[in-house]
Amino acid sequence: MNGRLDELRGPVPSHPHDARAIAALAANPGCARRALLDAAGVDKDRTARHVGFPAPFGQSQFAITRGNVFEALVKENGCAELLRLLRELLGLPVSEVGYQDVENVGAHLRHSHTRALIDRAARESEETAVFYDHPLFSLEIAGHTSYLEPDVVAFQLGGRFHIVEIKSFGVIDGQAEPQKVAGAARQAAVYVLALRTLLAELGHDPERVSHDVVLVCPENFANRPTATLVDVRKQLAVLRRQLARMTRVDRLLEGIPEGLTFDLAPDRDGVPTRSAQELAEALCQVPARYAPDCLSTCDMCMFCRDEARGNGSTDLLGRQVRDELGGVSGMAEALGLAEGTLEPAEGQEEVARLLRTANLLREECLR
Ligand code: SF4
Repeated sequence: MNGRLDELRGPVPSHPHDARAIAALAANPGCARRALLDAAGVDKDRTARHVGFPAPFGQSQFAITRGNVFEALVKENGCAELLRLLRELLGLPVSEVGYQDVENVGAHLRHSHTRALIDRAARESEETAVFYDHPLFSLEIAGHTSYLEPDVVAFQLGGRFHIVEIKSFGVIDGQAEPQKVAGAARQAAVYVLALRTLLAELGHDPERVSHDVVLVCPENFANRPTATLVDVRKQLAVLRRQLARMTRVDRLLEGIPEGLTFDLAPDRDGVPTRSAQELAEALCQVPARYAPDCLSTCDMCMFCRDEARGNGSTDLLGRQVRDELGGVSGMAEALGLAEGTLEPAEGQEEVARLLRTANLLREECLR
């Protein structure tokens, strides 16, 4: 399977998976295109740009730099500032805490080193309190292993692990933008699930990973950090359900044409050698499941929206409408049934009746 995924990506380094990508993938588990692009480690941002449909979101260089500066501040001096925050928030009964930077061991050993450290911490839980910086977890997504790097894992006395998520969006007068908090909670839920999976694999109780994650943000336009607990139980339940619904990557690979590739191999100037049209045709060979939510979560959104428009797909109307129109494949068919110019096929009688009623109501309103 890995050989075929490498072939799909072409001779460029694999683009790392992160919790944001997994949360977005879980939000649209029926999309084979995204599942394959992610499993193959294809750089979706570059792909979307090359085919002429860049995503309408992404952080500016200024925001990225600001985020890095804030994270460095929270972690400096062995996470001294973080310790202060956790003492207040969780009542950590210690004045000192250990600090392990897993990044120091080298990229190829980070995952096994993380496993060994977490195993030891779980065994010695009565005595130790340690921050783990740059740990590397793994999570199986649709039968394929993805690697993830949370900001920090705090290990508290009493044997509870807490995921710490450091974000650079501000908390103003005790309030942060709900959408941003919701996004951070979805990402943190991915880390909680990955750490629980690791504890279970090591023979420890997975429930020792708290569902309360520590969200650290700057407060009131300054860079002074503040921390809050965010309960991610709901996000965890959704994530589990969606991951269970995903088709396995090996089965998706069976359904694509032989030799298909999303290769973006660059020339000496870093420009992809492949024509945009050829790449777009390759992308269209893997079915997508566009929904308006894609506009805020997936780099491929403008490309897939354009494709759905071209196909007259009901996907453009959102998941709820698409599901309610089950069995009606496109807008033209839905309009034909609503206006009575098309006879419903077998099994479409009920949806056709509803569409005709909706159309009559609309006409009455317009009159
Ligand atoms: S934007 Fe396209 S590739 Fe991404 S999840 Fe939506 S349909 Fe799938």
